[in-house]
Amino acid sequence: MTDDIPESHPRYESLITRHRIEAGVEKGITSRQGLIAQGRGEAFDYLLGERTIPSADAAERAAAAHLLLADHAVLSVNGNVAALVPGELVDLAEATDADLEVNLFNRTDERMRAIVAHLREHGAEAVKGLDADGRIPGLDHERAKVDADGIGAADVVLVPLEDGDRAAALAEMGKTELVVDLNPLSRSARAADVPIVDNLIRAIPGLTAHARNLADADRDTLEGIIREFDAEDALVAAEEAIRSGGDDGESVAADV
Ligand code: ATP
Ligand code: MG
Repeated sequence: MTDDIPESHPRYESLITRHRIEAGVEKGITSRQGLIAQGRGEAFDYLLGERTIPSADAAERAAAAHLLLADHAVLSVNGNVAALVPGELVDLAEATDADLEVNLFNRTDERMRAIVAHLREHGAEAVKGLDADGRIPGLDHERAKVDADGIGAADVVLVPLEDGDRAAALAEMGKTELVVDLNPLSRSARAADVPIVDNLIRAIPGLTAHARNLADADRDTLEGIIREFDAEDALVAAEEAIRSGGDDGESVAADV
């Protein structure tokens, strides 16, 4: 399928992304709601100019610093994430010594297992999520399930494309929350300690590149990077970039 799209196509990346999500649905790893989430994301990405804006790059650097400083970092994986960036997530987990945990909003045993198998095909060794012996307080039973020794015990969690309620509940548990979401107005992005307003297919490799660059940095340097990052400024910069049709929004971030 994707072989038919020439790389020179002006919207190559967007078309590849769609194909990956479609293939994910066919493979039983992405839900049909995942198709709708993809469509929403695409609209925001189009308005951002389908590129990583400077404030998102800064967020990716701060998120990498958080992952490197964590006692126990977990990268949460849902059906869209597994379809779009499985190998890239395995690389990020390796670069930051984080666990991978499958965590689904529409949880079915079949889909859980399909995603775990898919991640293994892409090089993951241990994948958490099947035990589901922990709970996030304040959510209904199905939505609350996590692994007690995974997200349950994590101090830093990366939740790409998380639902707003769960993002808020995780933040209330006192976890440092890193969210990838193309909509800067989304409740998920607003609940995050580090909102990354960027397409997952750029954000995950971007995070890994920063983590590798910072691999030898000392604690003071990493803490400095985290201190310098301001979540509210990043959201304002992203919203401004969207409203101004692709301006990077940096001047706005500096002015507020
Ligand atoms: P809430 O306000 O509760 O957070 P929501 O609008 O975020 O609601 P969903 O549709 O479940 O609800 O969320 C999907 C989110 O994921 C959207 O904000 C969309 O922009 C984002 N999204 C979809 N695809 C991608 C992608 N490839 N990379 C980054 N973000 C994406
Ligand atoms: Mg959301």
